[in-house]
Parts: sequence; C-alpha cells; structure tokens
Amino acid sequence: MRKIKIFDTTLRDGEQAPGCTMNPREKLELARQLERLGVDVVEAGFPVSSPDDAQAVREVAQALTHTTVAALCRAVRGDVEAAAKALEPAKKPRLHIFIATSDLHLREKLNITREKALEMIAESVAYACTRCGDVEFSAEDATRSDREFLLTALNTAVDAGASTINVPDTVGYITPEEMGELIAWLRENLHRKKDGSPVTLSVHCHNDLGMAVANSLAAIRAGADQVEGTINGIGERAGNVALEEIIMALDTRGQLYQAQTGINLRQIYRTCRLVSTVIGQKIPPNKPVVGRNAFNHEAGIHQHGVLKNPLTYEIMSPETIGIYDNDLVLGKHSGKHAFIQRVEELGYTLPGELLERAFTRFLALADRKKTVTNKDIEAIVGAAGYTIPETYKLHSFVVNSGTVISATAVVKLLRDGEEMEHVARGDGPIDAAFKAIDRIVKVGFQLVNYSIHSVTEGEDAQGEVVVKLRQGNHTVTGRGLSTDIFEASLKAYLNAVNKIIAQ
Ligand SMILES: [Zn+2]
Repeated sequence: MRKIKIFDTTLRDGEQAPGCTMNPREKLELARQLERLGVDVVEAGFPVSSPDDAQAVREVAQALTHTTVAALCRAVRGDVEAAAKALEPAKKPRLHIFIATSDLHLREKLNITREKALEMIAESVAYACTRCGDVEFSAEDATRSDREFLLTALNTAVDAGASTINVPDTVGYITPEEMGELIAWLRENLHRKKDGSPVTLSVHCHNDLGMAVANSLAAIRAGADQVEGTINGIGERAGNVALEEIIMALDTRGQLYQAQTGINLRQIYRTCRLVSTVIGQKIPPNKPVVGRNAFNHEAGIHQHGVLKNPLTYEIMSPETIGIYDNDLVLGKHSGKHAFIQRVEELGYTLPGELLERAFTRFLALADRKKTVTNKDIEAIVGAAGYTIPETYKLHSFVVNSGTVISATAVVKLLRDGEEMEHVARGDGPIDAAFKAIDRIVKVGFQLVNYSIHSVTEGEDAQGEVVVKLRQGNHTVTGRGLSTDIFEASLKAYLNAVNKIIAQ
C-alpha cells in the first residue's frame, strides 16, 4: 500500500481564521500533540507576517524531535530568508513557497504577468534550495488556473529544485471528478527531480462547497501522496479539509484506496479535543469521526443491533480513535500516584509545577463532585497547561438576580494579596459580574464572545466557559471550569483579562 503523508496546517491556515487565534504557548502545546498524533509535517506559521509568528515557528522548530516543521513564505527573497531563519533550530525544516497562478489572482491581487510569476518561482525556489534541503511549492488558486500555465509553473518549481508540489483548491471550487482528473494529468506530466525520482504531489482543499474530503480522496486515488489540512477542519470561511476525516477514511477504506497513513489513531480524539479547547470552539455533535453523537446510538433498533454486534451500525470503533467510556475513574480518596498515572495514561506529560497545579484542581473538584471522569481530568489538565500569570485572582462574589429586580453583582478580587471590591448592575447576573470586574481592573477591551458547555453529563457536571476579549486587533481566549456556572464564567473572564495584562 502507498503511504499518504499528512501535512497539518492547523497552526498556520487554521489559525488564520477569525476566532481561531492561538498564543505561542498554545501553538507549542498543539505542535507537541500533533507530533504524538504522528503527522508527517507541521506547518507552524508564516514568519514574515509578524515577529510573533516568527517566534512561534522558532519555538515549534525547537520542540519537535522527528516531525518535519514547515514555514510559509511568498515567492520573494525576504520571505524565504525570514522563514529559513525561524526554522534554524528545526531537525527537519521545510520551506513552503507559494504564489498564485490563476489569471484572476495574478491580475487583481498581484498585478503581475504570467512571465513575471514564472521568474519569481524560479528565483525564489532556487534560492530556498540553497537555504534548506526540503522545499515545497504551492500554486495558489491552482484549481482555477489555466491548466497549461499551471503545469508550466509547477515544472518551473520542480526544475528549480522543489521536491514537493502542492495543488491548492484555495476557494473550495473544484469537484471530486475534476480533481481526480487534474491530479492524474499532473502526475503524468510533471517533471521528475534531478535524481530521476518523482516529486511528492500534494493537495490542499478548502470546504466551501462541503467537498474538501471527497476532493482530497479523489486526489489520493489519482496519485497524490500528501494531503494538507487542519484538525477539526478549522480555517478561513468554511475551513480546510478535516484531517481526522481523511485519516479515518483511509483507515476504514484503505483497501479501496490502496493507501494508508502513519498516524497513531488513538491520539485522534485527544488532538481534536485539544484544538477545540485551545480556540474555544466546541466540536459540533454531528461532526464526523469525533462529534459527540458519532458513536451514540439513540434509536432502539440501532441500540439492539450494536449491543449484539457493534459492526451492525458502526464502521469504526470509538476505542480506535481514543474515545474511552466515561466511567468513574477517580474519587476524593484517590491519591496523587493514581492521579499522575491516569494523566499519563491519557497521554499527557506535564512538568512538575503544572502537575502540582492540576492535582490541586483535581482535589478541589473531587470535593464537590462524586465521580471524577477522564473527561474531567482532561479538562483539568488542559486548564493547567494554559496557566498564565494570575495578576487578578477571584476572591469571592455574590450575584443577585430575578424577574422583578435588576441583576447586581459584588465581586472581590485579589491583586498581590490586596483585596479589591466593586459592585455593578447589568443585563443579567453574568453581565453585572463582568462589569464589576471591569471597574476593578480598568483595562480597555471588548467582550466578543461568551459560550458555555458541560464537560460531562449529570447534575454535578463541570461547566466550561470560554470568553473572548478583544483589545485593538488582538483577541484572547479565556477559559474557566467549575461545577458552578457563575464561578466558571468569572474565572474565564479573569483568565482572559490576565492574558491581556500578560501580553
Ligand atoms: Zn488554505
């Protein structure tokens, strides 16, 4: 069977989408998880776009031990230089150069001729090859480009030394039949590398018409060797192709495609959860592969069948992708040793200080909640991983609300041991409490999003609140976890406020 390379661009193309911004620490955590998942390439950022992005690429390059780390650059020398510099610490660096090849983009966006584009490709790819042994070239808007010109552009990149050629369906326009045909044609007509071996042929599909998975699979069938996409399909507009769906399609229907990936399937669910937590966007319940309902069987006739033999209605098993059942695992009397062991079993390695913090949170939760499940523990560990300096801490609060009175809140915070209290009125108790916090911290920002969901089931379930605050053009995400939704809300708000202060 052929091996299909999985190129993850969650940290670059995914992160670019509105509401998906991640801070450098979150990117690093996610990159480490992507390495555990076993993706072949992690695209860490676009270094020339900002010093923050360059720094994030550098940190990811430093941290990963055996995964290729790619950095994006336009087909200009300055971009290539910035990317090569950021990739210096990488064990396996890859420079990823792109330029648009459709007449529409060349004319409207770049305002250059086809000839100029070819010149830029030849020059930038050749220069990149002097800086890095692994160069990928992407023809942006490839699927709406004139076919002969697209081939000329791609062959210019191959002749200049690119070893991977990527065909992006930038605007999610192509159909599976057309994609299959295009890839087969390119496979036949692309030049070979100097050593005579074929180049790696890659696709990068967007999901505007809901065809990203089908298009990527059609490309694989026609001879593509690499698929680019993101975890949970995050990305601009309707998003990129969801890698977990490609991976499981190849695992489930590998015989048909005669292809497989090198992915550690048991890490899939954890990775998807981590992305969802980091960007504060819940996985939709009906999301293929990892949605809450993907393995739930409500209809009686289905349940009956599944109990007799899971294969009646399940083409994949939840265990395969690392979903375990939500049984009681730990309680108030479980010791630290049991907790650490469970955290490790769940696939997390936390440095001592963070582990201590997570254990303290676990004890506090076990005090309030009869049973602490794996999902609870993951939520706790996740929260511990993103701790930032707590300039303000929640001391206490009182909220007053009802149908005949206007909501008021009294909030007391601690800063360097000093107590600070304020009272405020608002449209509902949470609004009132947030206003009270605003009066204490006196930092200018805007609340752009508030969401709440339960981490587990049952009356004593933990609620997780995610808030997003905007200051200028910077957005931060704050998370709070508690069995009390007011407390979770205040913690999330303070978490975001502390992030703004720490920046
Ligand atoms: Zn893209």
